[in-house]
Amino acid sequence: MESEAIPPNADHDENFGFPADDAADAPSGEEVGDESSYTDDGPEASIAEVSPADDEPLTLYSDMNLNRPLMDAIRQAGYTHATPVQAAVIPVAMRGQDVIGQAQTGTGKTAAFLLPFMNRWRPHKLKGPIAVVMCPTRELAMQVAGEGIKLAPSKLFRTVPVYGGAGMGKQLDLLGRGCDLVVGTPGRMLDHLRRGTLNLDHVKYVVLDEADRMLDIGFRPDIERILRRCPESRQTLLMSATVPEPIKKLVSRYMRDPIHMNMTPKVVTVDKIRQAFITVDDERKFELLLKVIEREQPRQCLIFVERKRWADNLHKKMSRSLASVAAIHGDLPQKQREKIMGDFRSGKLKFMIATDVASRGIDVSGISHVINYDLPMDIENYVHRIGRTGRIGRDGVAIAFVTPEQGGHLTDIEMTINKLIDEDRIDGFEAHVTRKVRERPAQGAEPEAPPPVRKAVFGKSVKKYSSRL
Ligand code: ADP
Ligand code: MG
Repeated sequence: MESEAIPPNADHDENFGFPADDAADAPSGEEVGDESSYTDDGPEASIAEVSPADDEPLTLYSDMNLNRPLMDAIRQAGYTHATPVQAAVIPVAMRGQDVIGQAQTGTGKTAAFLLPFMNRWRPHKLKGPIAVVMCPTRELAMQVAGEGIKLAPSKLFRTVPVYGGAGMGKQLDLLGRGCDLVVGTPGRMLDHLRRGTLNLDHVKYVVLDEADRMLDIGFRPDIERILRRCPESRQTLLMSATVPEPIKKLVSRYMRDPIHMNMTPKVVTVDKIRQAFITVDDERKFELLLKVIEREQPRQCLIFVERKRWADNLHKKMSRSLASVAAIHGDLPQKQREKIMGDFRSGKLKFMIATDVASRGIDVSGISHVINYDLPMDIENYVHRIGRTGRIGRDGVAIAFVTPEQGGHLTDIEMTINKLIDEDRIDGFEAHVTRKVRERPAQGAEPEAPPPVRKAVFGKSVKKYSSRL
């Protein structure tokens, strides 16, 4: 056996510093709770939400009280400072608390959830795993496992990736030899659970990575089955770029007094992007889209819709009059999505229709235009969407189609980005129904009183035929 540098203050308890688990030896049983009861909403637990200040100084890893072997690995990886989500999540998770880490893609969420577990890890004789991470795709599972191997605090720390589309042999072998961290897709993890080749009885730390995406591709029942097989006294972390309602339900069901670290920037800098909206009646959106494309002549254009089905419908319609169009959404097989993404990245595709979750990770510098064919229900997604253009110092254009009923929603978006979105027009597309917009308080000031009769929402005088109001 290799000798390892163990931190001098290592408390060698069987629980790795996690709360004692009385039920650890009893199988936690699949029959706990009924899957269908998920829809039977109980009262939702309130979640403490913390939004760290924007101007917080960067935290040095050397100031984070991590043990020496782990610090060595972090240094080896080339990390000197914690990213904001790491600085927010790590100390809380190190205390053993459940955490929801909400931050955009590319902000370092992987190390944020791996390091607290790794810091507590000690050599042991259990077969494991002690920690499991669920990921939406094989690629992400491989990436996270790679980070697990890179940051491992010891040569004895064993990370095993478990995903579909790969042979069982190697995974069986690795699981059989024992492991500390299993990183996998829920489907394949369940496979192993059914075969009895994966045992979750000693799990103390569970992570749902890219939770919004996992739910979007229909992994909810699998995730729940796995969570029910883990001991109740575990610590649970959930990472996600957005926290929509279905995630909150999952949280209230499977997490214990979680702290919600929301790192979504309050004021988003999207200055390079020219933003505009056009009011249009719902049934004329497609006609408007063709006009906008004709006028704008985009280099590459990303078009957002709210539903997978709508993406397919729009794709059919667009393909009749335009070349190089594709649609991408969570129901497409992974292979096909990758092919479409590859073609879009290489410029072979000019138009891509996407749903929010499927578009995650799109980083294509050629996108000149983002069209919000449907306004996002979840306001945070507006920022994610338009951020796909204006990359690498280039200018970008973001145009939103707004139906008359969506005036208030547009105002909410404007408040979030702290910026007025200009109205754009294409002749013949003023919506016929006037829309009602809530009065918006002036920024940083008391609302003006009394409001003028036809005062515009933002204190701007309304053009005579504006459809803003
Ligand atoms: P997310 O899961 O939020 O999309 P990742 O965890 O995949 O982000 O990290 C994105 C990239 O940033 C990775 O290449 C990772 O190695 C790198 N990274 C993460 N944390 C740090 C850090 N503290 N310093 C430098 N690079 C980091
Ligand atoms: Mg990630």
